[in-house]
Amino acid sequence: MNLAIDMGGTNTRAIIYKDGKSILSFAGKNSQAGLVSFIEETLNRYNGIKTIGISYAGQIEDGVIIDSPNIKVDVANIREYFKTKYNIPLYIQNDLTCAVIAEAQMRKSQNISALYVGTGLGLGVISDGRVIKGNHNLACEIGHIPYKKAPFKCGCGKNNCIENFASGAGIIKWMNFYGLRGEATLEALKNEKNQKAKEILKEFEEALLYAVGSTITLFNPEILVLGGGIMEANPYLIDMLLSNIGDFALKPSLKDCKIVKSELKNAPLIGASLLKDIS
Ligand SMILES: [Zn+2]
Repeated sequence: MNLAIDMGGTNTRAIIYKDGKSILSFAGKNSQAGLVSFIEETLNRYNGIKTIGISYAGQIEDGVIIDSPNIKVDVANIREYFKTKYNIPLYIQNDLTCAVIAEAQMRKSQNISALYVGTGLGLGVISDGRVIKGNHNLACEIGHIPYKKAPFKCGCGKNNCIENFASGAGIIKWMNFYGLRGEATLEALKNEKNQKAKEILKEFEEALLYAVGSTITLFNPEILVLGGGIMEANPYLIDMLLSNIGDFALKPSLKDCKIVKSELKNAPLIGASLLKDIS
């Protein structure tokens, strides 16, 4: 049996699987005790787990959690911990890397990008069959590219990240800034009479177009998969992107690029279960 975990900013989802088939799944709010305690509890409850794969909403290098703005870290060097204490191999990557691995497998593509917009804005890229990692496995942090100044800081400490505009966290910050109440959803912003609400929505859409246009222009993917909570809740976004992307992406790069919505239920979790095969 193998264990795969998707550790998001708020929720933890896990499956136990055997021979590629899921035999048990469980989910819940992130444990206050932390990820290592959650895994140890699971190992105690289910005997015979041979590998652990983790999709993690944070930055990872060589099995070590470098940074995780929204998750409490109990042990940073998590791979070493499980190797030493339990002799179980553990594979961990950031959630967008896991998502793009799952999307690439499903769509049988060697050149594919996955752009997810939810609480944050994230990107994973596979080029010529290989995950783009960079020097310290920090490549493709699209949410933190400089875009324009906001009157507040991003989770990373800068005030000019595109994530301040095109993400759920960004929408909440703008609503607080303007003193707007109500639900922080695109739908609610659209129905709000306040002019500032319409501005937040317009800024969100425009920033998303910049992010999608930049991804296509920089990485020339065969397929660009769009996912994440906000994308799922707002099917109109894909039409908005398709109608306007011509003004944001380099034309030859856009020509053969398929822009599609993710069809996987939980791509990061599926990717986590595939990590041992690619490491
Ligand atoms: Zn940032």
